[in-house]
Amino acid sequence: MGAGRFAPSPSGDLHLGNLRTALLAWLCARSTGRSFLMRVEDLDRVRPGAEERQLADLRSMGIDWDGPVVHQSERAWLYDAALASLGGRGLLFECFCTRREILEAPSAPHAPPGAYPGTCRDLTEAERDERRAVRPAAVRLRAGTASFTIHDELHGSYEGVVDDFVLRRGDGAIAYNLAVVVDDAQQGVDQVVRGDDLLSSAPRQAYLATLLGATPPTYVHVPLALNSAGQRLAKRDGAVTLRELGPSAFALVTASLGLTGTTAGELLDGFSIERIPREPWVFVPPEEAPVV
Ligand SMILES: [Zn+2]
Repeated sequence: MGAGRFAPSPSGDLHLGNLRTALLAWLCARSTGRSFLMRVEDLDRVRPGAEERQLADLRSMGIDWDGPVVHQSERAWLYDAALASLGGRGLLFECFCTRREILEAPSAPHAPPGAYPGTCRDLTEAERDERRAVRPAAVRLRAGTASFTIHDELHGSYEGVVDDFVLRRGDGAIAYNLAVVVDDAQQGVDQVVRGDDLLSSAPRQAYLATLLGATPPTYVHVPLALNSAGQRLAKRDGAVTLRELGPSAFALVTASLGLTGTTAGELLDGFSIERIPREPWVFVPPEEAPVV
């Protein structure tokens, strides 16, 4: 049996949008007989104490998980092993480009905007030596395709861009796109529920999974929570966390999903993946004063 997961970044308290996505991830996993894993994505942006508060908030909603909480910061050996495997098959190359150089480079024909233009793909060893003396290299995937199709339970068949994306940054940090794929594969995650802002990166990640010998997961990219201006809900929008809103937070989230219950377990009966709302949830924090 497979697994679903929630993977928060411990950068602060979870807001209603995060809690809603966590609840959906739990409901999708539990309603399909999967186990549910908790993975803390603490490779950067860590605020002391945030993880404990996040996990306490999730527990208070009735969200439980199987096995110990996993931390990306303790899994460097797995990411290094994946890089070694890809490198051994000639699927990596060093990139010395700055962000500005990538933006200003003429893009390859048919390449979508923002795709890596291939500047460093075929440098000679002498050229690489020269550039290594100037700045540390990022490591990119030598992609063998320009697009890849994933399956999403809400979006159906979704084809998106695959370019030579970064797997390890110039400062040595492991890129999110590598860590998430390695972790999901290693943990047996076969259902990924997350915000639909990540839909466009799913084809890259699914393609990378196949290169690492894993079957890409089934995706459920759920609509985000927005503020009254139609932007992604954020802490600056006012009272948006469980601690700020108190017990009403859970009721707000469940109402937005058309579900009723006082704890996650009570929602399972009325839940099915097909019934997840397809539109963003616009949330106006209670003390937001009307603009006059
Ligand atoms: Zn480059």
